[in-house]
Amino acid sequence: MTAATAMTATTTIQNLIDGRFAPASGGAIISVYDPATGSLIATAPDSTAHDIDAAVDAAAAAFPAWHALGAPARAAQLRTLADLVERDADEFARVESLDTGKPLALARSIDIPRAISNLRFFADAVVADEGETFENAQSRSAVHHRALGVAACISPWNLPLYLFTWKIAPALAAGCTVVGKPSEVTPLTAWMLARLCVEAGFPRGVVNIVQGRGLLSGAALVAHPRVACITFTGGTATGESIARAAAPSFKRTALELGGKNPALVFADAAGPAQLQATVEGIVRAAFTNQGQVCHCASRILVERSAWDVFVPALVERTKRLRVGDPLDATTDIGALVSGQHLLKVAAAVDAARRDGATIHCGGVRVDPAMLPERIRAGAFYPPTLMSDLATTARANQEEIFGPVATLIPFESDAEAIAIANGTRYGLSATVWTNDDARASRIASQLDCGTVWINSWMVRDLRVPIGGMHASGLGREGGREALHFFAEPVAVVRANTST
Ligand code: NAD
Repeated sequence: MTAATAMTATTTIQNLIDGRFAPASGGAIISVYDPATGSLIATAPDSTAHDIDAAVDAAAAAFPAWHALGAPARAAQLRTLADLVERDADEFARVESLDTGKPLALARSIDIPRAISNLRFFADAVVADEGETFENAQSRSAVHHRALGVAACISPWNLPLYLFTWKIAPALAAGCTVVGKPSEVTPLTAWMLARLCVEAGFPRGVVNIVQGRGLLSGAALVAHPRVACITFTGGTATGESIARAAAPSFKRTALELGGKNPALVFADAAGPAQLQATVEGIVRAAFTNQGQVCHCASRILVERSAWDVFVPALVERTKRLRVGDPLDATTDIGALVSGQHLLKVAAAVDAARRDGATIHCGGVRVDPAMLPERIRAGAFYPPTLMSDLATTARANQEEIFGPVATLIPFESDAEAIAIANGTRYGLSATVWTNDDARASRIASQLDCGTVWINSWMVRDLRVPIGGMHASGLGREGGREALHFFAEPVAVVRANTST
């Protein structure tokens, strides 16, 4: 049997609550589809507030012993889990591709290795995090971090295992117990992880994974009085409603939300020596994962003097991206995450067309007749580049979260910075220039959490990542993430008795 035919069998996903697998208490299910073929691949529990209660109770009961275990023992448990994910990495990649429509090669090279690194990174980080000491003439102070309690970890569909582990790893390392709620659109790899948590020997109740819809189980989790903190990645509108729900009980909240990330291309990066490298970099930044990465460059600002060279080169390269079967090793652009999301992306491009956009490539749904038979019912949209829109147009202001980017000319550094900062978001930016001093100067004036110079998504896991304004609150990564899940406690000794 080939991998492709094996995928037609449907999987019954269950919740992991208090060390046991169970369906939703009401028995309701959510159907899960492969967006590349439209086939039903799994059913997941449509969990209720009752399931959330059970999971939070289990996590609260497990918290004192897990916290008391100490950092080295918790780290060892995370490393065991990482080893098991690594053992099953091929199957994780296959399932992630099946569930999301992303190219299998991408899941293999990025999603799953990164999930493994997340688990190992926070295991190492918590052992190295010895707290701080301060001394002055009057006193010696030691500051250590005490875990908050039950952490709610809510993740989106675009990088399912990668972002889920990016939350649960620091929470568990810091000593919190976890109730995780993956996206209902892509529940499969979290289900695989749940089974490995049991195999890894996590004590009952330390990791609970409850599947279900945001408005039902997600909302119940956020509002639960015994949840101490919430780490959420997803859309800005959802983030707003979570912030509101969390405020009355003063839960600590980290929100990683949407973006409308600018790429600033200066003329010197489009000269003969650099043109191809810049084009390749922008294509990666705009279209990786079908443009469904929160950091994707969706507004490409091009210095006017380079427009006539850079734009045709970018369009030509974009047209050569291969849209196709996620299982095919030569595919660059797989399926969007769902048919529903495809309609949203297509509607945003149609709206831009009505706003006067010139479409340079893409702009209409891929004709199913052009696709291999296996994927004709899939959610495929081609990489799309548009220009001639006002900077205030919807396509330049609202997140589309698909393989769609706009092109905007600029004349000066000041104008580029004003356009780049001219949305309600502030997640990340890329700057493309050979002039390092200019890059630093521009970076210091961009209102966003990360600026990549002549690169995109190059990561050091110690570096905090997050957004400003409507892109969120707080940072993930490094010590910032570990400390999010803990209360700093100062123990102060006077040098002389007073
Ligand atoms: P979403 O907001 O619809 O859902 C995210 C998660 O929140 C899901 O698990 C969902 O079930 C849950 N949820 C929905 N409503 C809820 C509620 N009222 N209470 C509690 N939980 C609720 O987002 P999505 O469509 O899954 O993901 C796409 C979005 O995520 C995009 O906007 C993208 O920019 C953003 N994103 C941001 C980052 C980042 O690091 N800033 C990373 C990836 C994705």
